[in-house]
Amino acid sequence: MLSRLLLLFATFCSATHLLPEGLRFSYDDPQSWRLSYPQCGGNYQSPISLSLHKAIPIGLPPLHFGHYDQPFDELLSVRNNGHTVEFRVPTTVLGERPFLTGGLLGDFYEARAVHFHWGSSQRKGSEHLLNGRRYDLEMHIVHRNTRYQSDEEARNQTDGLAVLAVLFKVVRTSYLFYQPGLNEIFGSLLHLGDFNSSYTPPAFLTLGSLLGNLDRGNFYAYMGSLTTPPCSPAVVWHVFAEVLPISHLELPKFWQLRDRRGRPLLNTFRPLQSVEARQVFHRRASEAYVWLK
Ligand SMILES: [Zn+2]
Repeated sequence: MLSRLLLLFATFCSATHLLPEGLRFSYDDPQSWRLSYPQCGGNYQSPISLSLHKAIPIGLPPLHFGHYDQPFDELLSVRNNGHTVEFRVPTTVLGERPFLTGGLLGDFYEARAVHFHWGSSQRKGSEHLLNGRRYDLEMHIVHRNTRYQSDEEARNQTDGLAVLAVLFKVVRTSYLFYQPGLNEIFGSLLHLGDFNSSYTPPAFLTLGSLLGNLDRGNFYAYMGSLTTPPCSPAVVWHVFAEVLPISHLELPKFWQLRDRRGRPLLNTFRPLQSVEARQVFHRRASEAYVWLK
């Protein structure tokens, strides 16, 4: 009976969140995660440092963003879960789930959830580094391979999850960038100060609106892990080479969030992990690729 209840609980959790609910960790000492979550001390860990000169240039197919431009059929519920700001990706007005394929992906991956990593007034907070540089903010759009039935099953496969990463650079301007989806999410942050608080932006968004005018054809790709416990080496990463702007008036809104103990939720990025023998690929935009040839 207990195991059935646990199974039900696990199924419920995986239906709404990438990570098992109630999983506790803090950014005070990420080196100690491995004590409770052995995979955090294992191979194929993320994030890593990406650079144009070390990556293997390759004619990867472009990413295909299925249903990314169809509006969602419900309003988003953005939540402070104690270690990040996250929302579940709803189905679209046509009943479809936005999906990702192409790039390094051999399968179709359905979009599940979106969350962020940030720093503080003292430190920049992207997880991946680009050409030796850490940026101010990083957004992750988490997708699950449609071959697997649950997040737990996907976390146990090397091709279980696909995460799209977008890095942001703070820009000193009071002008609001034309990034309608992102502006709604950033605008939600002032309502999300307390742990477990949630807010529903009053706009029907698309997943694609979170990418702004980003050059979607220019990205790095490699095999890695979740950057939070349990650090499962189950993620095919695609990190865009172009960095999006965020106003200096928006970025500090992340810094006023608090964790479950009421402390400021700051520096929510995992330290860099070793690349080891992994191959990191870089796909250039198709025009540039043709030009280089
Ligand atoms: Zn993340």
